[in-house]
Amino acid sequence: MIEGRFCTAVVLAAGRGKRMGGDVAKQYRRLGGRLLLYYALRAFERSPLIDSIVLVVGDEAQISFCKKEIVDVYGFQKVDMLITGGKERYDSVWRALCAMRERPECREGYVFIHDGARPAVTEEILQRCLDAAVRYGSGVAGMPAKDTIKLADEAGFALETPPRDRLWLIQTPQTFLFSLIYEAYRRMEEARQDWETEGVRITDDAMVVETFTGQRVKLVEGSYENIKVTTPEDMVLAEAFLGLQPSAAKAD
Ligand code: C5P
Repeated sequence: MIEGRFCTAVVLAAGRGKRMGGDVAKQYRRLGGRLLLYYALRAFERSPLIDSIVLVVGDEAQISFCKKEIVDVYGFQKVDMLITGGKERYDSVWRALCAMRERPECREGYVFIHDGARPAVTEEILQRCLDAAVRYGSGVAGMPAKDTIKLADEAGFALETPPRDRLWLIQTPQTFLFSLIYEAYRRMEEARQDWETEGVRITDDAMVVETFTGQRVKLVEGSYENIKVTTPEDMVLAEAFLGLQPSAAKAD
């Protein structure tokens, strides 16, 4: 609770994780003997800033699985809504926001939207996101790009090289006043036919606020360790960033 405002974390785990290969979605892979999803949930469960957690998973079977294998096993007290997501990430977020809207305390507060596949989020990052959200209505974690980034055409030829010192790699948590992010997503839903026809790809929550409300979104420092586990080599990095023994991860 911050300044009397309720803080909810939405942890997204409804993706299929196709880039990881294999049959098991990445958030259900094991790292150090525990499910990848466990680590993100643990960060929010432990944080004094967070009052409630909404966990978004793929289907009813995953709801029972997560209840049994994570919430019950580790005694997570804050996971009080377990819901199914949608086809795309933004569909999953919209479902979570609609579920939150049913609760007056959530409606008045802040929401941290986080990828369940980012296990190394820290309390310092949560604090920076919230500080910005209290001040500006939004606080989105990211890090300055280390590599040069080019915009390419469809044939793979470089079109443009934006100045590197202005480029950020965007992460989660993306933290907002609930009223701001709900209104942004509501307008996105309303205009769905238009942007779907135009082929617009919505890849994060900040983009929804920028596009559908015109409000500026504040970027805050995340960390280079706050990676999204996407491909198999990311598992090795995540294991190192979490301080896990490599052998422990392999043994499981
Ligand atoms: O696909 P991407 O890597 O961008 O997914 C980021 C996060 O969003 C992952 O934690 C994934 O499980 C979640 N997601 C979701 N619902 C979807 C697609 C992705 O909750 N339909």
